[in-house]
Amino acid sequence: MPQLIDRFGRTVDYLRISITDRCDFRCVYCMAEDMTFLPRNQILSLEEIYTLAKTFVELGVKKIRITGGEPLVRKGALELLSQLGALEGLHELVLTTNGSQLVTAAPILKAAKVKRLNISLDTLDAKKFKELTRNGDLKNVLNGIDTAKKVGFERIKLNAVILKNRNHDEVCDLVQFAIDNALDISFIEEMPLGIVEKHNRAEAYYSSDEIYADLAARFELQKNNDNTGGPSDYFSISNTQTRIGFISPHSHNFCSTCNRVRLTVEGRLLLCLGNEHSVDLKEILRSPNFSSEKLKQAIIDSMQIKPEKHEFNVTEQPVIFRYMNMTGG
Ligand code: SAM
Ligand code: SF4
Repeated sequence: MPQLIDRFGRTVDYLRISITDRCDFRCVYCMAEDMTFLPRNQILSLEEIYTLAKTFVELGVKKIRITGGEPLVRKGALELLSQLGALEGLHELVLTTNGSQLVTAAPILKAAKVKRLNISLDTLDAKKFKELTRNGDLKNVLNGIDTAKKVGFERIKLNAVILKNRNHDEVCDLVQFAIDNALDISFIEEMPLGIVEKHNRAEAYYSSDEIYADLAARFELQKNNDNTGGPSDYFSISNTQTRIGFISPHSHNFCSTCNRVRLTVEGRLLLCLGNEHSVDLKEILRSPNFSSEKLKQAIIDSMQIKPEKHEFNVTEQPVIFRYMNMTGG
């Protein structure tokens, strides 16, 4: 029986966990160039993350996505994933990564029962890749994607954030790359999380409708009615295995079917990516009179403050001051 049901009748069965705020890249839309990361005692230990994940599964969560920051740069991440993969009642363990560690990590992830991977890839041009990530190496990521393909996950999806005058001219090439490699691909509109210097989000905004129009000029897109419970609209392309998703927080409202909550690296349970409503689970975990019943009750009660919808507006200063790496995308 699901126990996590909010005031609007939505069942929460999907938890995203950011296991680190750190990253080996500094993508222009995600982080400032000079980031200060959290001190160790402020972030959840791997044991605490495991305890929370297990509790959520006992409360009916069926799917967990591990993200960050770059989850695979945290020491012990692969051991944590193996433990989570063995949780009884968890149907899907999935991971979002920038791909930089996949050459070595992919086989271990597969053994840990990670079912699917989302790998970020915004451009196929090595110079642009370096500019967008500020220090990433495209070749290494492409080798990582190749290794992951060979290892054989149930599905691999590329995530591309599209910015006007940066990489918007590459949407067709990225789709062709996905087709050639039998991968899915999602295009993500930039979300206004945190202020990033030297980067104007309103100017960089390139809508899903514009991406769709660019793709429709080259590919035959068919609306796919798969309801994944996520924020994507999906399309397939004739005679290929590739599905194309559009994640459009600005142009389309996906809140009415929201089934997810997020655990930040500091142990805050965020009820909505676009709002600050949250509950401090770390405080409960570290309290001297901790009990698993109290933790469970706090999670059940948190459903009462899950907002109806998010509050993004790309043309205004962000109402959300945390960066994406704190929350996990
Ligand atoms: N480091 C991993 C990665 O890049 O895949 C996982 C964490 S990252 C925060 C997760 C996803 O969020 C990535 O696909 C990234 O492109 C996306 N992202 C980061 N900042 C964003 C923003 N401001 N708007 C939209 N997507 C963003
Ligand atoms: Fe790192 Fe991912 Fe953020 Fe890029 S999007 S800086 S890879 S956490």
